[in-house]
Amino acid sequence: MNKVKVAFFDFACCEGCQLQVANMGEALLDVLELIDVVEFREVMSEKSAVYDVAVVEGSITTKHAVERIKKIRETAKVLIAYGSCATNGGVNGMKNNFPLDDIQKYVYQDKAGYFDTIPTRAVHQVVPVDYFVHGCPVYIPEFVKVLKCALAGMPYRVPDDPVCTECKLNENVCLYEKGVACMGPITRAGCNSWCINNGNICYGCRGMVSNPAEKGQKDVLERHKISPDWIENKFNMYNKARDLEEKKTHEQKC
Ligand code: SF4
Ligand code: SF4
Ligand code: SF4
Repeated sequence: MNKVKVAFFDFACCEGCQLQVANMGEALLDVLELIDVVEFREVMSEKSAVYDVAVVEGSITTKHAVERIKKIRETAKVLIAYGSCATNGGVNGMKNNFPLDDIQKYVYQDKAGYFDTIPTRAVHQVVPVDYFVHGCPVYIPEFVKVLKCALAGMPYRVPDDPVCTECKLNENVCLYEKGVACMGPITRAGCNSWCINNGNICYGCRGMVSNPAEKGQKDVLERHKISPDWIENKFNMYNKARDLEEKKTHEQKC
């Protein structure tokens, strides 16, 4: 049986999502029965100009990256964006809070002229994306599910209910009851409330649900005397690139 050729690529990111995949353990063995990994910079030195599925990590932050992702899109039959950097712009989107010239000078000082930079964009804001795996980093059970859908040519529906639903199923005591603010009520589920289960708050890394319960959220904030600015600032930590959403080149199909 000819295995599907899969290539992993990275753009602006910390490569933490690649690390999650590389550390998948037994789940990786299952997946490797189905695919032939032909490029994956973090775990192998081979490269390939031929692949069926491109799995793309990182956001698009330079003109060179725009050209490179277009070439990858032309080659791949299926493109999966994985990790918040790729699906939302992620933490790189914070660059969009400042004038580009200031950012360039701050980072590169007197060498600023040598480095090309553009506003941070998620991958789908540059080329069409077939599948999204949100999260910083990706939640591996969801990554495996999406990869299997892609291999079978089936759609994957990204959960569009809030993290609170999973958090409740996991029987966590709500952080608001402990006087701690949390982004769970407006953030897309799918991570099995990973952070809350492990004693942290939800930072909103998976992006906002399409129909947030604004009134309910406002009531909660008022009751706990939390400023809406807190929510806005936290949300912008991962989702600032959404301001460029009008440049989106396609609608998410699944
Ligand atoms: S989504 Fe998070 S873990 Fe993944 S590459 Fe970006 S910063 Fe790193
Ligand atoms: S607000 Fe946070 S802690 Fe409370 S239920 Fe929602 S996800 Fe869980
Ligand atoms: S709990 Fe929130 S911050 Fe943590 S992985 Fe899930 S969506 Fe991201």
